[in-house]
Amino acid sequence: MATKLLLTFAICRLIVTVGLTLEPTELLRLGLTVDPVDVESASVDFGLMTKVEPLAVLRPSSAEDVAQLVKAAYESSHGFTVSARGHGHSINGQAQTGTGVVVQMSGVRSGGKPSVWGGDMYVDVWGGELWIDVLKSCLEYGLAPKSWTDYLYLSVGGTLSNAGISGQAFHHGPQISNVHELDVVTGKGELMTCSKEQNQELFIAVLGGLGQFGIITRARISLEPAPQRVRWIRVLYSNFSAFTKDQEYLISLHGNQKFDYVEGFVIVDEGLINNWRSSFFSPRNPVKISSLGSNNNGGVLYCLEITKNYHESTAETIDQEIEALLKKLNFIPTSVFTTDLPYVDFLDRVHKAELKLRSKGMWEVPHPWLNLFVPKSKIADFDRGVFKGILGNKTSGPILIYPMNKNKWDDKSSVVTPDEDVFYLVAFLRSALDNGEETQSLEYLTNQNRQILKFCDEDGIKVKQYLPHYKTQSEWKEHYGSKWDRFQRMKMKFDPRHILASGQNIFTPTFLSSSKMASW
Ligand code: FAD
Repeated sequence: MATKLLLTFAICRLIVTVGLTLEPTELLRLGLTVDPVDVESASVDFGLMTKVEPLAVLRPSSAEDVAQLVKAAYESSHGFTVSARGHGHSINGQAQTGTGVVVQMSGVRSGGKPSVWGGDMYVDVWGGELWIDVLKSCLEYGLAPKSWTDYLYLSVGGTLSNAGISGQAFHHGPQISNVHELDVVTGKGELMTCSKEQNQELFIAVLGGLGQFGIITRARISLEPAPQRVRWIRVLYSNFSAFTKDQEYLISLHGNQKFDYVEGFVIVDEGLINNWRSSFFSPRNPVKISSLGSNNNGGVLYCLEITKNYHESTAETIDQEIEALLKKLNFIPTSVFTTDLPYVDFLDRVHKAELKLRSKGMWEVPHPWLNLFVPKSKIADFDRGVFKGILGNKTSGPILIYPMNKNKWDDKSSVVTPDEDVFYLVAFLRSALDNGEETQSLEYLTNQNRQILKFCDEDGIKVKQYLPHYKTQSEWKEHYGSKWDRFQRMKMKFDPRHILASGQNIFTPTFLSSSKMASW
């Protein structure tokens, strides 16, 4: 009874707030919940920097439920927004909405368990499925997706709306380059199947489309035979140009004589060694940063992180293969750290760090993350101005840096990358702490992000934000550059009332006057 009352109250609020003409019974039929727990969790994200309560939450039991809700929003005379939420791991409220309904895609098995098609080497998964569960289902068949993110507790729909990148992207491309087909609910409430062959416009718009054109309810993802084990190696550099030269060499290799994963990170202070991604440097594997020559280099070191996958049956040759590859690199000779582990443990490595941080109360803190794609021709300028300049010698979190090959990205997709054959991801994955240390405060880190962007702008470093966040449409226009016209055209075609993913702040829902939009 209490729930019913609460629901009725919220429905009234919905009607009052956005002027819906739908009857409460109609909304009940749509299966909306206003369970305070659902509403609270849909109002925040991993970034913990914005809080916006939705009017209601839908936990769909099928793609048809999603379509029915979006159709109701599209056809209602006044309109309301609909935002898909995967696992809520955005930073800036991208999956939130205060003027409508959040569709909680993860945590519901609406499409059933992932269906693995071993003969055709693909898997069909629900859009809200977490990558960790996709992996587990595929491993039952000895198969696995090819391209990953570093962390697997992210939803398929969420990463495909961005790109989905990790150290395999140089070879396989981002996750969006490894999708055969999608089912998508457009902003008109139509459930459409799309691929390169069928409804191609929708397919390429949705991939990396920041949720603007439709809600992904099913994805067909390409698979490969799953490796059994991984040799995981880290080597250090004090010289940035030697580091990037080696990274660029490694991503130029093809065939079997290459590493399977190439990443790297920047170490500007020893504190990083105790950081969430550095469990690798265990007490059995101690690193004395000061002994490695960083003092002659503004205190900065660079760590190359590489892996070679293998099958137990080929274990005898793995050492020679790795040795041959390492011989061609110019790292500090005494700085080779190696470990060996099952494939699944490697892919799920960040979750271990998450559990550690959670136990210390350091996971649920604000995350003013900044992710940039930096063109190869300017990466040395970036090093000089940012790693050795703006950062000082404090980081408050990992800073990843690794290059990718642009030819592994479909330039027709909605993602924007720099205009060069090779570009780097530089990811400032920092946590703000309220511990009285100024350099760890949210304000300090946010300000530093601004300084980094300003430096790039003034120095002519044409970076593109990954997981972009802008406040005005003119910034979005600049971000999309020559892709903007098509992006806008696709929006008009597939979500003409601008009701989807309004938390990205790209388009104003047509039912909102500009004054209301400004008060969001
Ligand atoms: P949400 O935050 O829930 O949603 C993100 C956006 O996608 C929103 O606009 C939402 O409306 C939209 N959306 C969600 N589901 C759907 C759907 N089914 N259909 C259409 N639109 C949808 N990214 C990488 O590429 N590589 C990494 O290695 C990586 N590591 C990360 C590690 C951590 C700890 C965290 C917090 C994030 C990481 N990310 C990484 C970023 C991550 O890929 C994005 O934040 C992604 O959006 C998170 O997925 P989610 O399911 O939580 O999406």
